[in-house]
Amino acid sequence: MSTPRRKVVIVGGGIAGLTIANTLVERAKDLVEVTVITRDRHYVGGPTRPLLLTNEEEYGRIIRGYEEVGLKGVNVVTGDVVSIDPGNRVVNYAETLLGNKVRSIGYDYLVLAPGVVFDGSSINGYDKYWYVNANVYDPGRVHVLKNRVWSMNEGTVVVYAPKAPYRCAPAPTETALLIHTILKYRGVRDKVRIIHIDANDKTQPPVIADVVKVIYDKAGIELITNQEIIEMNDREVVTRSGERYRYDLLAMLEPTGPRHSLGIPA
Ligand SMILES: Cc1cc2nc3c(=O)[nH]c(=O)nc-3n(C[C@H](O)[C@H](O)[C@H](O)COP(=O)(O)OP(=O)(O)OC[C@H]3O[C@@H](n4cnc5c(N)ncnc54)[C@H](O)[C@@H]3O)c2cc1C
Repeated sequence: MSTPRRKVVIVGGGIAGLTIANTLVERAKDLVEVTVITRDRHYVGGPTRPLLLTNEEEYGRIIRGYEEVGLKGVNVVTGDVVSIDPGNRVVNYAETLLGNKVRSIGYDYLVLAPGVVFDGSSINGYDKYWYVNANVYDPGRVHVLKNRVWSMNEGTVVVYAPKAPYRCAPAPTETALLIHTILKYRGVRDKVRIIHIDANDKTQPPVIADVVKVIYDKAGIELITNQEIIEMNDREVVTRSGERYRYDLLAMLEPTGPRHSLGIPA
C-alpha cells in the first residue's frame, strides 16, 4: 500500500512561495501535494521594476500568471489568508473574487511566504498625504512616478530610504539615479534638484555606499544620511532632527515590516 501524499500548503505566491512550490514538485512530486494560496491571479516581479521608469523594462515582461506552476502540478488557489489554526492544521482564506466566502484547507506542512508590507503609519501626516508619494516598490505607483518624472521641468525631487532592513536595499539609489538619467535625457536636469534622504548612516547596501557616493557627486545628487522622515505633508517632509525638505516630487519608501500575524494565535 502506498503512503498518502503529505499536504503542503504555502501562503503567498511570490518569489519565495513559488520557489518552494517548484522545488517540491520537481523533487518530491510523489510524496507531496502542494497548494499555494495567494491573493491575486497574477504576480508582478520586483527586481527589474525600477527600469519601467526609463522604458528599459515593460509590464508585459514582469507580470506573470500561475499557469507554469499550475501545469507542473501545483494547486494554485486565489484567496486572502485570514487566519491559521495550527492546533487543527487548518488555513482559512477568503475567496477574493467570488464574494469573500471564507474557506478552509487542511495541511500536514505549512509554509508562510506572504512577503512584507510597506507601512507609513509611523510618519505623521502619512495617512492624509500618502497619495502624493510615488515609488518603484508598488507596480501601480511606479507608473505614477514615471509619468511625473517624464513631465516635470523644474523643482525638487526627494528620494527616501527608511531604516534598514527594508525590501531591496539598492532600490532607492536606483530610483535617484534613474530619475537623474531621465531628467538629463529630457534636458531639464539643471533645473531639478535631487535629494536622497537616507535614514541610515550609508546608502544601502553599505558595501557599495562609497561607490554610490562617487557616482552621486558626479551626478549632482545630494545625499543626506542619518535622517529619518517622521512627518510629511503635500509640500515637505520633516526629519527627526527637525530639518524640513520641500519637494515637488516625493519618491519615499515607507518603512518595511512583516505582514500582519495572519491570525496565528500566540
Ligand atoms: C522595486 C524592487 C526591486 C527589487 N530588486 C531586487 C533585485 O534586484 N534583486 C533581488 O534579489 N530582489 C529584488 N527585490 C526584492 C524581491 O522582489 C523580493 O525580495 C521578493 O519579491 C520577495 O518575495 P516574497 O515571495 O517573499 O514576497 P512577495 O514577492 O511580496 O510575495 C508575497 C505574495 O504573498 C501574497 N500574500 C500576502 N499576504 C497574503 C495573504 N494574507 N493571503 C494570501 N496571499 C498573500 C502577496 O499578494 C504576494 O503575491 C526587489 C523588490 C522591489 C519591489
